[in-house]
Amino acid sequence: MLSTVRRWKYQALAVCSALLVVACSTGDVTQSESSDPVTGSDPAMEVNLYSSRHYDTDRALYDNFTTETGVKVNLIEADGDELIERVQSEGENSPADVILTVDAGRLWRAQEAGLFQPIESEVLETAIPESFRQPDGLWFGFSSRARIIVYNKDKVDPSELSTYEALTDSKWKGRIAIRSSSNMYNQSMVASMIEANGLEATEAWAQGLVANFAREPEGNDTDQISAVADGVADIAIVNSYYVARLANSEDPTDQEVASKIGMFFPNQDDRGTHINISGGGVAVHAPHRESAIAFLEYLASPEAQALFADGNNEFPVVAGTPLNNEYLAEFVDRKTDSLQAEIIGKQNDEALKLMDRAGWR
Ligand code: FE
Repeated sequence: MLSTVRRWKYQALAVCSALLVVACSTGDVTQSESSDPVTGSDPAMEVNLYSSRHYDTDRALYDNFTTETGVKVNLIEADGDELIERVQSEGENSPADVILTVDAGRLWRAQEAGLFQPIESEVLETAIPESFRQPDGLWFGFSSRARIIVYNKDKVDPSELSTYEALTDSKWKGRIAIRSSSNMYNQSMVASMIEANGLEATEAWAQGLVANFAREPEGNDTDQISAVADGVADIAIVNSYYVARLANSEDPTDQEVASKIGMFFPNQDDRGTHINISGGGVAVHAPHRESAIAFLEYLASPEAQALFADGNNEFPVVAGTPLNNEYLAEFVDRKTDSLQAEIIGKQNDEALKLMDRAGWR
């Protein structure tokens, strides 16, 4: 159900539109949100969502918003950096209302490109922990994912695992799989380590990790998990939802892979496991600003938060969200790094250069 505040906003919008009022008492309803004098349609009742989330289950999330509010979601999908380039090239004429993407590093890039406008929302500020949102209200994280270690249960005892830092130990020589340094998830993990340990120590760490690779980086996170299940490597670093997706899959092949794999959350005795977010904000030239804010507030609602976990095996960011996902529920109390997501983004450049110097292809 919509909160009273949001319901009020919609009632106010409906009145504004009906009266063809240019500026009304909600303060930020613009002429573009008045009803179309030709078609009579109500453009305030739609939101143009630019998303680079690559998960099929998101459609249920958006349909649910439409059912609740009557606001139609026009979905435009593109890969992370393509999405940013598209909004940039559309400039002031961009129809984008909401930009959703994955990884704090990419949210930061979009922020640097000036694609977001700041918003104030008590709903979002109350629901979403500070470390998961940009301090000026430019973007908000709606789900989180941990970058964990997976291990082959036949070859590795979890007691051998401890921290990301310990993966440079020579006992892991030729045993680690991980995707390439062009992958944002890895850049953000390295960014968090620069914050924790400094540039020099992190560069030495990256060199040590590269020295222990089982193979040249190739494929995505699912491919790293398969490599561990198949014995190509003994451990891998991947995002948690890829493992949970295989474990919760109905496909016997996926279940077989998942049955061979254990999940380990590193750094429990210090800063906690590195986590990242998927999130978004209101586009700088959003034609439907009010609908955009309502959409973001919906993403922080209990039902949307539950859908992130049920649909895509991500962790909800709003405390107290009931977790129906049994596989994830087992890990929900693990300690995670509380580093501010924006800092992960700010360190992206340094992280990328460092990985390059360390020979991480
Ligand atoms: Fe992913």
